[in-house]
Amino acid sequence: MARAPAVITSVVGSFPVEEGLDRTEALAGFYAGRPVDPFEGALREAVESQVAAGIDWVSDGQVRADMITLFSAHIPGMKVADGRTTVVGAIEPPARSITRGDMLMAKRFAGDQARVKGILTGPSTIALSCAVADGYRDERDLQLVHDIARVLRREAEELIANGAVAVQIDEPFFSTGVDELTARLAAVDSIAKGLAVPVAMHVCGDVSDLMGDFLALEHVNILDHEFAASPQVLDAISRDDLEGSGKRVGYGCIRSDDATVEDVPTIVTRIRAAVSKLGAENLIIDPDCGLRVFPREVARAKLENMVKATREVGGSE
Ligand SMILES: [Zn+2]
Repeated sequence: MARAPAVITSVVGSFPVEEGLDRTEALAGFYAGRPVDPFEGALREAVESQVAAGIDWVSDGQVRADMITLFSAHIPGMKVADGRTTVVGAIEPPARSITRGDMLMAKRFAGDQARVKGILTGPSTIALSCAVADGYRDERDLQLVHDIARVLRREAEELIANGAVAVQIDEPFFSTGVDELTARLAAVDSIAKGLAVPVAMHVCGDVSDLMGDFLALEHVNILDHEFAASPQVLDAISRDDLEGSGKRVGYGCIRSDDATVEDVPTIVTRIRAAVSKLGAENLIIDPDCGLRVFPREVARAKLENMVKATREVGGSE
């Protein structure tokens, strides 16, 4: 009997960071004449932990900053002070790619053990996190969203040109009830349109009431949500919805808000619920959200059990 292809496992993105420079590595770099990157060690640790757990599509761990300043610190027209971003003029694409360097570093550490996914913070989540001093009406100005989307589109192309297996656009603010959701989703679609790899949109929280809007996205291929903390979201999607719209679900099945490491049978039960409702071929298995808040060992243990559970359900290996 032909074995079904294994279900892909991935992560949402962020990974624990232990502050400070690895002194041994830094000194070695210094004597080798290489500029010292204080985050290289954290990025390496994030990638290697995911690879060791058996994740198929890993992230760079988003180790350099929070999800907003990771981008805003590099976008002309934005200024960051004390961790807060202010829009000070018209948003322009940066002269150099924001994400290319970390994508290449993550690929180097992943080697041939895993593929690397590119992650972008969505235009509305960035815009709504800013204070606006000049150039736009306020943080709700849709022109601001549109201009940030243009910057992110270029980043998506850079990520793909440098080997991203997929691109994920994070819009957690959508679950908090934003105005003009349709226009904001169109901005996400404008980033995704015509890209050569699958594009996911990640929105955590209880998005049951928003699934109809999300399914109407034209160019996003994967809807990535939390189902461990919000199992009711599964009731809001059907197999027909997915197959009719050509989408898959990123099925968050371990909690990112609770440090208890779920055991394999618990995760197997969660995955089986999704497989029987949506079909294994329509799923990508990942955690509910980023794992930044946990100690490293917890993040690792959660991913290891998630991969074991996926293999048990999928019958692979
Ligand atoms: Zn999230």
